[in-house]
Amino acid sequence: MKSTNPGSRRQKIILYYGLAVILPGIVLVFLAYRGIRNDQALREKENRRKLEINSQDFFSRIDSGLVEFIKEQTTDSILAGKGKSDPSVLILFVEDASGSKKLISHQLLYLPSELLPIKPEKLMQSIGMKEGQRLEYIERRFSDALRFYQDIVLKTNDPAEKIRALVSSARLYNKMNQPERAENLYDEIRKDYSGSLLNGEIPVSLIAGLEILKINQVRGEIDEMSNNSRQYLELLLHPPCEYDKNQFDMFYQSFKDIIREKDKLNDSIIAELVTQRTRTDYLIRILTGPNLITINDNNHFKGDNNGQLSCVPINSAGLAAVYLSRIKDNDVQLTMVIDFPVYFKSISEKLIKKLDAGSSINVKIEDEIGKVIFSKVSKEETNFISFQFPEYLPQWELIISENKPGFIAALFKTGRGIYLFIFILIALLMVLGFAFVMYSINTELRLNKLKSEFISNVSHELKSPLTSIRMMTEMLYHKRVETEERKSAYYSAMLEESEHLSHLLDNILDFSRMEDDRKKYDFTDLDLDDLLVKFLESARERIKEQGFEIRYNRPDKVSLIRGDRDAIQQVFYNLFDNAIKFSGTSRIIDVTLSPQDEEIMFSVKDYGIGISAKDQEKIFDRFYRGDKPQKLGIKGSGIGLTIVKQIVEAHGGIIEVESEVGKGSLFTVRLPLS
Ligand code: ADP
Repeated sequence: MKSTNPGSRRQKIILYYGLAVILPGIVLVFLAYRGIRNDQALREKENRRKLEINSQDFFSRIDSGLVEFIKEQTTDSILAGKGKSDPSVLILFVEDASGSKKLISHQLLYLPSELLPIKPEKLMQSIGMKEGQRLEYIERRFSDALRFYQDIVLKTNDPAEKIRALVSSARLYNKMNQPERAENLYDEIRKDYSGSLLNGEIPVSLIAGLEILKINQVRGEIDEMSNNSRQYLELLLHPPCEYDKNQFDMFYQSFKDIIREKDKLNDSIIAELVTQRTRTDYLIRILTGPNLITINDNNHFKGDNNGQLSCVPINSAGLAAVYLSRIKDNDVQLTMVIDFPVYFKSISEKLIKKLDAGSSINVKIEDEIGKVIFSKVSKEETNFISFQFPEYLPQWELIISENKPGFIAALFKTGRGIYLFIFILIALLMVLGFAFVMYSINTELRLNKLKSEFISNVSHELKSPLTSIRMMTEMLYHKRVETEERKSAYYSAMLEESEHLSHLLDNILDFSRMEDDRKKYDFTDLDLDDLLVKFLESARERIKEQGFEIRYNRPDKVSLIRGDRDAIQQVFYNLFDNAIKFSGTSRIIDVTLSPQDEEIMFSVKDYGIGISAKDQEKIFDRFYRGDKPQKLGIKGSGIGLTIVKQIVEAHGGIIEVESEVGKGSLFTVRLPLS
């Protein structure tokens, strides 16, 4: 017989499985993977398209916002003094056909003198003040002069004259060595006349501020000085009235001459002042110089059908601004320079809300150097796409992305979800298939091993009775057995061996029938006691030479069961045969038959080698043989108990085993009464 090594068979099966399942599986997985990737690419394309539409919408909203913004400014409303003073409007001016410009509103630090609304009063002194000046400067009668000025303060109705008198009074306090009074008065002037100009050109609040600083300095009032210098700088940064550049320069320089120490707060305001100064100069150049801003076709808004509305980005002098200009029918041009970051901030909330209707969009806006102007990002790790702002706006970037759905959400989305399911399913099937194949291979191989063991066991079992029958037959045939007594012993031994053979063959045939479900039972009413008495009689006869004592516990009443005679006899035979085989040195076997209410209990007990707990679980399995009998060289085929169990169950009964190694085993069969 050709025997194959189970190890190489396993390898072969795994190889076939690999070729038949894993290879196509890998191809399928690859295809599914490709599918997912394609799907992803499509999705990304779609996503990009969506974001593109969003960005276009975003920019057109900025456009229309700007158009609205400038259209609100009608020349008429401006000329009537109702010009918009929005915090984002840096300058707003009109220019008529002749090119003359009129500044309507602005956020400049100072103005060029030609744009100042009031021309400085060249006549600095009014007649009324002359007397005071004489007293102060020529006669140097300070207290009289002071009285004179104070008198004017009380009497005059002319605000310009009042300011002059107040400033002169404060100056005189100083001259009269009353710095405290002087300081108080200057403080009053600074507060009450912050928007006023002295002699129509000098900002009073700055004069007062500067004088206060001087007094602080003389008197060594450090704390006051730093406080006052801050107020002074704030006044320069946010001028309460319009004055010209020379004034600004003068006051700025005077401050620097007085305050030389470094101060963090002051320095930051000064830095801001420097920036604002550059801006102011730049904006003044726009206002006064010719054609600093050139408008070309690209600067016209698309929505503006007359081509009379233009927008030019300004990226100069630290400004990110737009130059927005509109020509009206009567050739009057309205122009505004808008601080774009400020303007954007005022409209950003509305813009972003529109952009982000489903709240699934991440938005970032960066300026030309990559500084983040605006950010609303809930997840950083998405595919951001950036869009340049249109060329008529500052060179900012709109960076948007759509939030990716979570893994589970993506799984349940059609398209990718299906692929993913297929992907997972294939992988799962492959793993399960592999596990199943491995399990089947192992079971099959184990069974095969048991089967071949079974064949060799059965052959051995068949061989020894056959050999002895043959030997005895030969001896008888050659008349080598002399006495009649010996002859009859030979005949009886041959009979016994052939009976054993026939039981063995019965077992094998029955087993094969049971395996194929062909086993038939012929049920009749059976008296088990009667059957058992006869069985034990012949059994005792068979084994009389081995010296066994078989104790039979007979029932006291007759109980019938419905059963197949041959099958039940086979049960007796197999259990009894095992008890004898595994008795070891013990020579006692107890057989009990005891009818109970609805069933009859039949048991065979020996006092032999016993069965380990581990083996007890398996002894009813096909071909299973305990380790110990094999070691001890006890013959057997491993199907006896399998057949017993099947027969008992076919009769509606059960079989149980109780055993302890070295102490013996008790097999109990319970069958229902008929
Ligand atoms: P076998 O032909 O090996 O007897 P069985 O199916 O009848 O096959 O029994 C299966 C195994 O159960 C035996 O190999 C043995 O290990 C164990 N066995 C059965 N009966 C007994 C017993 N009375 N005492 C000890 N072991 C037993």
